[in-house]
Amino acid sequence: MASTTKTETTATEATEEVTKDPSEMTKEELLAHVAALTATKAAANGAKREAARRELVIGDERLAWVVANARPAESDCLCGCGGKTKGRFVPGHDAKLKSELMATAEFGTDEQKAQANAALATFGW
Ligand SMILES: [Zn+2]
Repeated sequence: MASTTKTETTATEATEEVTKDPSEMTKEELLAHVAALTATKAAANGAKREAARRELVIGDERLAWVVANARPAESDCLCGCGGKTKGRFVPGHDAKLKSELMATAEFGTDEQKAQANAALATFGW
């Protein structure tokens, strides 16, 4: 039993050492060859990524500062809906407000028209 295992191990090692021309390989050998190449490549890429990751790790103090300061402050949506946004408007609310202002500028009272036009100009619409 033990001798059989030893023989197999030796045979496997011998196979790995011999670099056969892929065109002369059997389908099984070719698949094993490709799998070995893929594994080697993946290991190399993994090691490279690991090295890069280690190099790019940020210090705790600086990381905390970045996290604290990177959080965009939320402000009120400028359409007046009371929604919070990281920009000027909650998504879609700028288009809605623009439509409302344009309608007001056309169909509102004189005072509403003047205000709507001023607002449109302010927003650059
Ligand atoms: Zn809004």
